[in-house]
Amino acid sequence: MIIGIDDTDSVDGMCTTYLTAILIDKLKGLGDIRGLPHLIRLNPNIKYKTRGNAALAVEIDTYPDSEEQIVNTAISLVEDMADMDCENTNPGIVFLIDQGRNDPGFRQDLESFMWQAMRDVLAVEDARSLIGKYGIKHKEFKNGRGLIGALAACGSVLCGLSDHTYELIAYRQPGNFGTPREIDRESVFRADRETYPGTWDTVDISNNTIVFAPHSPDPILFGIRGDDVQSIEKAFGIIGSEPAGLTLLYRTNQGTDFHLLDAQICDVLEERSYKLTGTVVDRPVTIRGGHMFFTLKGSGSIRCAAFEPTKGFRNIIKELIPGDKVGVYGGIADGTLNVEKIEILELAAYEKTSNPVCPTCGKRMKSAGSKQGFRCKGCNTKSGEVVRTTMGRGITPGIYEVPPCARRHISKPLVRSAEPDVYPSR
Ligand code: ATP
Repeated sequence: MIIGIDDTDSVDGMCTTYLTAILIDKLKGLGDIRGLPHLIRLNPNIKYKTRGNAALAVEIDTYPDSEEQIVNTAISLVEDMADMDCENTNPGIVFLIDQGRNDPGFRQDLESFMWQAMRDVLAVEDARSLIGKYGIKHKEFKNGRGLIGALAACGSVLCGLSDHTYELIAYRQPGNFGTPREIDRESVFRADRETYPGTWDTVDISNNTIVFAPHSPDPILFGIRGDDVQSIEKAFGIIGSEPAGLTLLYRTNQGTDFHLLDAQICDVLEERSYKLTGTVVDRPVTIRGGHMFFTLKGSGSIRCAAFEPTKGFRNIIKELIPGDKVGVYGGIADGTLNVEKIEILELAAYEKTSNPVCPTCGKRMKSAGSKQGFRCKGCNTKSGEVVRTTMGRGITPGIYEVPPCARRHISKPLVRSAEPDVYPSR
């Protein structure tokens, strides 16, 4: 059986991953957990999300006659733990019992639903219609929106993903919920030094901060992300902190860029994320608060933004000039693409113009009047030609990313696609 769960938390506390960790504990006498639980990040631009738009799924080999008990255990746990009072919490649980194994049509439908959940905007009705078509056992609470994420997470277990990473989440002991987290900062930097790039996004070197622990009152103490389970476990052994309660390793789609669609600029839609290519039209401008904007032109034109939280990434953006050919990656909100990564494909020539120098005295000539070229006042020499000097550029072609403190969970860090030993600077 595959159990998918979503939308149990609110900004005031709880977390669907924690609920899943507790569920796994409770299911121990009822079946054998198969593989790792899946922590799937869905469309990061969805307005209903509480934080990182995560959904969870776990597969269990049931014992004879334990099915009903498993279903009841999951439902009562969500009833007990979900923050039902929050208007924006609408839990959904899905149980894939017989479906899928021998039905390619179902697998295909579920897989395409999962990709839509990562890249597109779905309605609860889309989830209900899939559930109805295949008679899927489920339980929904309130408006049932969580069914969308619950089904998508089941899709990742049943259909698999072409890329994946891992996260080891350490949860706080319940007595510590809501209090400041005690984490030995220096040990986190040491863990990063000893395990990067097997682990990533534990610290943000350029901003001298740790990024693997939330600041909200939820049960997570910290999460160590990476491609390599051994490195993750090594990092866990190095990090000093308050004693953890539960710890659980998840298989995830974090750091995969699965949210990105290829499209023409004229075709982009709100609430989706894209990789777009085009030509920079104007010099980036910075507005109050440090947010930076420029316009990209291709099949249409679109405003692109590097907001203040992207910190040093704006130093790349500010070097752009009209004519630069770039690829931008990011989500669309209010008609603006929020840049997560930029690929500088071709730099425009940057020329500075100046008045010519007098060949006799070596001084700069002055303008001789509108459309009349230049004249040296002292020597009376004349020239019609402005001097053009090609200037160096402050950037080079290549791909650049926002720092870890500004990265979306699903965005792929450059280090994941770097050649061995040629890691991007941090
Ligand atoms: P949680 O820890 O509870 O998962 P979260 O930040 O991940 O918190 P949710 O509280 O789950 O966010 O809220 C996201 C809601 O949006 C869920 O109900 C989920 O089913 C729904 N959702 C996810 N992806 C999409 C999508 N592509 N289209 C429409 N709704 C979606």
